[in-house]
Amino acid sequence: MSGLEMISTPTPQLKIMIEHYQKVLSPEEYQIFINDIKSTYIKFFSEIAAFPAGPERAILGHQLLTPLIEQGIAQVKPTCGRGCGTCCNYEVEITIDEGALLAALVSDGLMIDLKRLAIQASRKTKSEEWLQSSKNPDNRCVFLGDDQACQVYEFRPSICRKHVVNSNPQECGKTNGQITPILIPFAEIAMSAILGQPDNAKASLSKALSLALNNRPKQTFELEIESDLHQPNRAISPSV
Ligand code: SF4
Repeated sequence: MSGLEMISTPTPQLKIMIEHYQKVLSPEEYQIFINDIKSTYIKFFSEIAAFPAGPERAILGHQLLTPLIEQGIAQVKPTCGRGCGTCCNYEVEITIDEGALLAALVSDGLMIDLKRLAIQASRKTKSEEWLQSSKNPDNRCVFLGDDQACQVYEFRPSICRKHVVNSNPQECGKTNGQITPILIPFAEIAMSAILGQPDNAKASLSKALSLALNNRPKQTFELEIESDLHQPNRAISPSV
């Protein structure tokens, strides 16, 4: 990404957006655009860097990301809604911090299907089995409830927050479905800042969660939630 080498882990969507604007803007306009992205990235990066790696840093990332997503989709009318859950039958990539956060919930008593988690975690990343979506019952996210709603909605990973479409939801379950994801530029910059933090990285949800459960110390972690910052807004839910 020309001019943005400082962003160590850009999301694929951020890369696409920048490449597009490099083609359509004049050199002067492009430089202004790049400077805006740089200053926004630095601001987001330093906000998240205030916390050490782990569940608290994951929550901080969610607090940063969620209002940006809500603003981004306010005018677009996503077709995603509670009880859909189609995208919860694909391989979902989360951060190592989010793996630790989800492991804290499981360690604190949330019941999940550990056998299914082990099956998913044993697969190679981007294994073809994931393309079978809900046709393969082993693909179902271990946090997806019987009512097709997310059981960890308040703590759901960033990707589950920012993956929003405005196409027909039925298309999401088809192998070559016509899907129109909603691109939210500020959310992509924030996500890139989250991924760029030391000791953070992306991994399949099952692998990141298994890793965190295996490494987890015995004592329980108290999730201190500021409730006003974590109220799920299901009316404009970007996911389930
Ligand atoms: S964490 Fe929740 S929203 Fe994300 S894939 Fe699993 S069930 Fe779906």
